[in-house]
Amino acid sequence: MSTSPLSLLRSVIQQPNQPHPRNVKKVPYVELYSGRLQGVVSSGSDIERVYVSFIEANTGDYYCSTNNNRPCSGLGWRQCKHIEEMAEQAIYQYGSLEVARYLGAKTESNDPSWWAIRDALNGSQKRIPASEVFSRFLSYLRFLELPRHDGPAPEMTWFTSR
Ligand SMILES: [Zn+2]
Repeated sequence: MSTSPLSLLRSVIQQPNQPHPRNVKKVPYVELYSGRLQGVVSSGSDIERVYVSFIEANTGDYYCSTNNNRPCSGLGWRQCKHIEEMAEQAIYQYGSLEVARYLGAKTESNDPSWWAIRDALNGSQKRIPASEVFSRFLSYLRFLELPRHDGPAPEMTWFTSR
């Protein structure tokens, strides 16, 4: 059995859908970390390719690129579908209020939609290599190689949904 990071990634992406609200197949990785909502999003068409997306807290600036640092062709004057998918899954995982608070989006609602959060942030494209996000994802994936045990694995809490 191959244990390269990409084969591990494939094994995660190809997991059968689980009854959890968060879609791990579409968005294998999402987190609120280091002043950003960031994550890894599957390409809709190519299992070999993933996108690394982020939105910066307070500025609302965003970017999306492939794991090889190629800019996402869906990015223009607005956010691409990967960022939308990541945000949707982040809301499933953390709740919309927590996402809005973390990003510093001021909305009237106690359950703001992603559109309301995005409009409150009003950021623009900011070209930053996101390889650090992808490395964090790969280092988490390495936990999958560890022998199974019955105790809690606190490092993996991001992977479960509520
Ligand atoms: Zn994209």
